[in-house]
Amino acid sequence: MAFEGLAQRLQGTLQKITGKGKISEADVKEMMREVRFALIEADVNLKVVKEFVKTVSERSVGQDVMKSLTPGQQVVKIVKDELTKLMGEEQSGIQFARKSPTVIMMVGLQGAGKTTTSGKLANSLRKRNNKQPLLVAADVYRPAAIQQLETIGKQLTIPVFSMGTDISPVEIVRQALKKADEDHNDVVIIDTAGRLHIDETLMQELKDIRELSSPDEVFLVVDSMTGQDAVNVAKNFDDAIGITGVALTKLDGDTRGGAALSIRSVTQKPIKYVGMGEKMDALEPFHPERMASRILGMGDVMSLIEKAQENVDEDKAKELEQKLRTSTFTLDDFLDQLQQVKQMGPLDEILKMMPGFNKIKGLDNAKVDESQMGKVEAVIYSMTTQERTTPEMINASRKKRIAKGSGTSIQEVNRLLKQFEEMKKMVKQMTGAQQRGKKKMKMP
Ligand code: GDP
Repeated sequence: MAFEGLAQRLQGTLQKITGKGKISEADVKEMMREVRFALIEADVNLKVVKEFVKTVSERSVGQDVMKSLTPGQQVVKIVKDELTKLMGEEQSGIQFARKSPTVIMMVGLQGAGKTTTSGKLANSLRKRNNKQPLLVAADVYRPAAIQQLETIGKQLTIPVFSMGTDISPVEIVRQALKKADEDHNDVVIIDTAGRLHIDETLMQELKDIRELSSPDEVFLVVDSMTGQDAVNVAKNFDDAIGITGVALTKLDGDTRGGAALSIRSVTQKPIKYVGMGEKMDALEPFHPERMASRILGMGDVMSLIEKAQENVDEDKAKELEQKLRTSTFTLDDFLDQLQQVKQMGPLDEILKMMPGFNKIKGLDNAKVDESQMGKVEAVIYSMTTQERTTPEMINASRKKRIAKGSGTSIQEVNRLLKQFEEMKKMVKQMTGAQQRGKKKMKMP
């Protein structure tokens, strides 16, 4: 999980102070010592740590905090505010061009995830912004890069413009822009060449491409797992060619988070996207406030809702509601629901977005047992259509058959049937209450 170490440490430290009815300057000092340690251990830039600790300390010993009724909570809020500020305050979206197409240049070192992120970005812009992107393979030094982009394009059914490796990148980009014009692509994403290290030739090439294409965005792709190296790379690229934002990859594997917390302060350039996995839908717009919330264990309800909206089919949801109201909700619908939830991503990641989840004892490090969901599916699949619509007919011998067919036990079949009944009951109560509420409101 991203920021795991930092989250644990900060939450542990803040917990000590939250419930306190009174805090002294000594308490704040003690807390800040731990916060400083937590940040350093998370590999945050030293200058950034110093600034952060200074600001939080000053604000925390301020009169209004000390005198307030809930000084502990005030301090937690200050830490959250400052963490948010550190990462950039507001989410900064893409600057779309007034005149089509919007040109986005992807730059970065080899292996940072440039090609993958180009694909993910195209996918995200199509899905979230209704755009029709064209991907451009301008990395002519690594032949596999072109192929890789073409494979990604095929997988996503997004067009990829390539001319092989014998033509100069600048010429490729020139032709690509022409093609985008002809095909009415409103976004052009250029996957440029990467190197192992920053060098003059590469920078010159990138400058030439920038000159020709006048990009609306120059995104630097950096690997968050490289910590402070990523920050230095960002600084160097920005000084050499000027970047408009950062796409921070592999945050899913970065338990420290130092790059995410330092890049903005050091370069003054916003993190616009974070990569959360290898799959093509694992790119998220970066929201500093939500991230701060997640780090402090306060959950991230907004992202949860967005994830649900993206993955839940609205027509289906309406149909479902109708079924629940009229009590025609069947095990097939239950299965359908389960599959929609699964589409939202790994369950333990989803649970971590829920506020207070980490405070439930024993669940803080819970790994959700996804095989349990697989079992539920298997049990339902082993039922006949009739059994799925009228589970009441499932008697002992049927249970035995279902358990055998699904490779589970009779107890597990029983458990599922019971859960299903309870869920139906609960929903009925809820919708009943809603209906009554509506009626009440209509009364004069
Ligand atoms: P490039 O050389 O910069 O074009 O890098 P690639 O796009 O080829 O990516 C290098 C490796 O990093 C590939 O194996 C990707 O699947 C992987 N990768 C990229 N982004 C992410 C991410 O956000 N999370 C994880 N876990 N892996 C990633």
